[in-house]
Amino acid sequence: MQKVALITGICGQDGSYLAKLLVDKGYRVIGALRRSSRQSAVIPRLEYLGISDYIELIDFELSEFSNIVRVVQTEKPHEVYNLAAQSFVGTSWEQPLTTTDVNANGVLRLLEAIRTFSPDTRFYQASTSEMFGAAEAPQHENTPFYPRSPYGVAKLFGHWITKNYRESFGMKACSGILFNHESPLRGQEFVTRKISLAMSNIAQGKQDVWELGNLDAKRDWGFAGDYVEGMWRMINAENMDDYVLATGETHSIRDFARLAGEYLNMDLVWEGEGIDEKGIDRKTGKTVIQVNPRFYRPAEVHLLLGDPARAEAELGWRRGVDFPALVEMMVRRDFDAVKADRLTF
Ligand code: NAP
Ligand code: GDP
Repeated sequence: MQKVALITGICGQDGSYLAKLLVDKGYRVIGALRRSSRQSAVIPRLEYLGISDYIELIDFELSEFSNIVRVVQTEKPHEVYNLAAQSFVGTSWEQPLTTTDVNANGVLRLLEAIRTFSPDTRFYQASTSEMFGAAEAPQHENTPFYPRSPYGVAKLFGHWITKNYRESFGMKACSGILFNHESPLRGQEFVTRKISLAMSNIAQGKQDVWELGNLDAKRDWGFAGDYVEGMWRMINAENMDDYVLATGETHSIRDFARLAGEYLNMDLVWEGEGIDEKGIDRKTGKTVIQVNPRFYRPAEVHLLLGDPARAEAELGWRRGVDFPALVEMMVRRDFDAVKADRLTF
């Protein structure tokens, strides 16, 4: 029998890669997306991956219980992947109530709908390393959480309520604590994509200088395509549990920018300190990066470094793409898209 999966957040980075994985595995994939006046027949990331014709799209709003109930009751999917969220940490200070409603209560609404109308459905919740925040590194499944943003706090509720519904009602529910994962499909507001895009513009003379915030922050960056494979392994595990997915390596914002520059034939060096620090291309002597405190956060997560040992041992999950390959992949795609003037997401 063909398996049916419902993916919330289908238009986003992870939704797109996961949809591709499941289509390739022969699933019937229902993509849940919220209404927008900008919506057109083409969903650019699905189009980019060549799968837009294989996804059944359905209207879905995580703030609207009646809508969720209808979708779950009608489709009774075998698997639900809840990837929809207000996913940008910076925005969570500007919109803490919306962030909490979608990222925390939204999870509970889905769990309640599944418990009541489709109890055999397996459920995956997109939890995050942001829940660790200021916790000591390396972070693993038993590290105590210390979120540092409304985003992290709301996601922590989503994480615990998923665990609680598994333990309270025996629901087939799990939560993946995923460290940052990137790709050419990443939203342009996230730092990695911001770097790959701006550096591609600079390399083609379409931009002079651009701005970043805290250059010292360190992240454990992996490739989104590898991480959706981990989601699938988690939801299909015989004994469902919560797992960390990470690379076990951490790099600073400076490291990412420097490496992106290398692929574009630049030699970035750093001069000055704090808000006066500048990234200069030694080959041309031009300043290409400046610091703007506008991009600082009210509370920063300085260091994320995950330990994926448990997922590796119990799920057989391994990351495939390493840090240099990830940076190169993102820069190459943005360089080509800028050159062709075809930036659709
Ligand atoms: P993304 O690209 O921002 O995608 C999020 C999706 O959620 C978007 O398609 C968005 O729709 C949808 N959405 C937002 N609010 C919604 C609502 N109220 N109702 C229905 N849909 C809504 O994020 P991503 O990088 O793919 O991440 C997927 C999930 O993993 C998110 O929950 C994120 O918080 C979590 N996560 C991501 C990472 C990472 O490094 N990428 C790490 C850990 C956890 P629109 O397209 O209409 O905006
Ligand atoms: P996050 O880990 O989910 O918050 O992912 P982001 O890509 O948004 O940010 C990663 C880190 O980059 C954070 O520590 C930010 O403070 C830092 N950062 C430095 N400059 C920027 C910037 O201009 N934009 C963003 N988004 N982050 C920046």
